[in-house]
Amino acid sequence: MEADYLIVGQGLAGTCIAHQLLQRGKSIKIIQNQELPSSSKVAGGMFNPVTGKRLARTWKQQETFSYLNTFYQDLEVSLNTKLLHKIPLFRPYKNENQKSQFLRAIETKGLSDLLENKETKEELKDIIQAPLGGILTSESGRLDVPLFIEKSAQYFHKKGILEQGNFDYESLDIAKETAEYKLVKYSKIIFCEGFHVKNNTLFNWLPFNPVKGETLDVTLPKNINIKEIINQGAWLMPMGGNKYKMGSTYDWDNLDFETTQKAKEDILEKSKNFLSPVPTIFAQSAGIRPAVDDRRPILGAHPKYPNIVIFNGLGTKGVSLAPYLSKQLAEHLTEGKEIDAESTIERFYTLYS
Ligand SMILES: Cc1cc2nc3c(=O)[nH]c(=O)nc-3n(C[C@H](O)[C@H](O)[C@H](O)COP(=O)(O)OP(=O)(O)OC[C@H]3O[C@@H](n4cnc5c(N)ncnc54)[C@H](O)[C@@H]3O)c2cc1C
Repeated sequence: MEADYLIVGQGLAGTCIAHQLLQRGKSIKIIQNQELPSSSKVAGGMFNPVTGKRLARTWKQQETFSYLNTFYQDLEVSLNTKLLHKIPLFRPYKNENQKSQFLRAIETKGLSDLLENKETKEELKDIIQAPLGGILTSESGRLDVPLFIEKSAQYFHKKGILEQGNFDYESLDIAKETAEYKLVKYSKIIFCEGFHVKNNTLFNWLPFNPVKGETLDVTLPKNINIKEIINQGAWLMPMGGNKYKMGSTYDWDNLDFETTQKAKEDILEKSKNFLSPVPTIFAQSAGIRPAVDDRRPILGAHPKYPNIVIFNGLGTKGVSLAPYLSKQLAEHLTEGKEIDAESTIERFYTLYS
């Protein structure tokens, strides 16, 4: 056997499971097609524990956020690169009604460990329109996802375990105890293809509900220094110096990778609700989030072929979910531990025919 595990795709999902398996002393090989567009390469990289109009903890917030820091910070050491930036997130109140609703939610939903009521900072009063103040979370931030993917690729390449190229489904032989690819045996093949799972007949029957998104890279005048992520309808995230990222859009109908004028206008229009200066755009990106109908990830073995595994469905929250889920998948594969009922592929087995 050339390696215990063959991993197809090196986006966030493939990268995280690869690190988890290596950390457990397993031998792996990765196939990654650089020519294909990847969601991870355009991701804003934001993580935020409380979202939504009604303020709710994200799914499995406590489990995912308590592990996120350890996982990425340990990899910062192995990859010798700064990846994780803790950045407070400020959400201005739209009006008095929203303010009292949010303050009540902090009490009734027990969110005071994550959120606090804040006045708008004096130096931001002419820049951010937030006369009533807003809520601030300090458990938020940004992972530099493209850098994480790139540095991990270099790390895997040095170990001689990364192969560039397209996975050829025709060269797969799964009618055996082990899975064979191009006549090489693996104990498991793990598909981490993101949106491109649509081309994989082993898993494209799963109820994916992909959603296209676009972001803008902008500058603001040099005398402006916004240190928080600002989020109100659209978001603005500091990227260092006078550069910021703005986003994002949700489009379920046009599943292509083209940037559009419509998305640009949409983000700029929404940002007018909170941002006074007009940003200068220097880049725009588009990608497709691999989301699922029930908005939960998909992990585990194919219903018919136990050696064929999927890790997908990271949706809009890959940064915070991937560490926790990849750990769970690695423990499942190496120690036989159960996968959460909400994320196991088994919840969809009845759809397979
Ligand atoms: C505009 C936008 C903004 C986003 N912002 C955020 C954010 O702020 N925070 C957050 O948490 N999430 C964000 N996301 C979501 C995040 O990007 C995804 O959850 C995550 O990146 C998905 O990772 P993945 O590995 O499943 O898929 P991908 O990143 O798409 O990776 C799949 C990989 O598989 C490879 N591949 C596929 N098929 C093959 C094949 N046959 N052979 C070889 N290689 C193959 C592809 O080349 C690709 O590299 C955003 C997404 C978009 C589009």
